[in-house]
Amino acid sequence: MTVEALSYAIDEQDRLIRVDDGYYRFAEENGWDGAGDSLGRLLWDFVAGHDVRKLQRLLLRRVRDELHDVELPFRCDSPELRREMDVRITADRSGRVVLFSARLRSEQQREEPQPLFDPSVPRDDADFLPMCAWCDRFLVDGEWVEVEEAAKRLELFRRSELPTLDHGICPRCGGTLLAA
Ligand SMILES: [Zn+2]
Repeated sequence: MTVEALSYAIDEQDRLIRVDDGYYRFAEENGWDGAGDSLGRLLWDFVAGHDVRKLQRLLLRRVRDELHDVELPFRCDSPELRREMDVRITADRSGRVVLFSARLRSEQQREEPQPLFDPSVPRDDADFLPMCAWCDRFLVDGEWVEVEEAAKRLELFRRSELPTLDHGICPRCGGTLLAA
């Protein structure tokens, strides 16, 4: 059973100043490295991919300066689960402290575990697979597809090593973040 909700907050320098119990439990369930000493670290240490960081910085600046509150859907899959979540990003009145609260919307067991989401499987450093860090889809043959489709097209079951994931953002999610 997955954690239903988790939250964390950052200060004006984007350092994690508060994480709740759900954050630690979720981190443990999903094999996040180094989550135990998250406090005091930069939020950006935990965001993979240059473009993703850039877009999230932009969004964060708008939340602080003008929006004060935004809610967005995002995916947070694991090898066994397809998970849809909503994240609410809220700035305090001064715009300095920002709170992220994520809530589970739906969770579905996969028919077959998808090793692409498993951080412990061996990776081929010469082979990169673009992945959207927001919706967890993969870019295969110029098309953004769900993991099951990516695994089929890439014939992952015939490989001893999986491609290294290259975290970016797909055009659909980029548009959603910018339009928030
Ligand atoms: Zn996406």
